[in-house]
Amino acid sequence: MFSGKTEELIRRMRRAQFARQRVEIFKPAIDVRYSEEDVVSHDQKHIQSTPIDSSASILLLANDIDVVGIDEAQFFDMGLVDVCNELAYRGVRVIVAGLDMDFRGVPFGPMPALCAIADDVTKVHAICVRCGNLAYVSHRLVDNDRRVLLGETQEYEPLCRECYKKSEEGRVKSDE
Ligand SMILES: [Zn+2]
Repeated sequence: MFSGKTEELIRRMRRAQFARQRVEIFKPAIDVRYSEEDVVSHDQKHIQSTPIDSSASILLLANDIDVVGIDEAQFFDMGLVDVCNELAYRGVRVIVAGLDMDFRGVPFGPMPALCAIADDVTKVHAICVRCGNLAYVSHRLVDNDRRVLLGETQEYEPLCRECYKKSEEGRVKSDE
């Protein structure tokens, strides 16, 4: 969230398109907050994408594709790990963007396993809105324990460890 990971995915996919490679981007069907079909970053860059419900659909839809992009991978099922491996063995370049941790700082969905099998991992960080250091968690501002709450500026704020800790301590006090 706010870290520029979707911008980075779009940038890499565009470069592949310029290189005349066949690209296809998939995103979870639940992620329709800006657009039904496009992947859209916070700074409103667009790229066409295919919303799917299950990671298994990627193998069916990625025939004759050189580069597969996957956005918001944290919302996909664990099957995505095998799917990415299978694509890589087919010689497909796979670029996955996702949130590594949920709002409590817990590793998110298939992301830890994807990081483990990836040839290369780039961590992009948002900036802590309270102190300007590198953020590490998307702190949830609304009171809701559902893990899948799609991010918007009024619902999340990126925080560094120090500010996250302070904010959690403040929350416990106000609950007492
Ligand atoms: Zn901070």
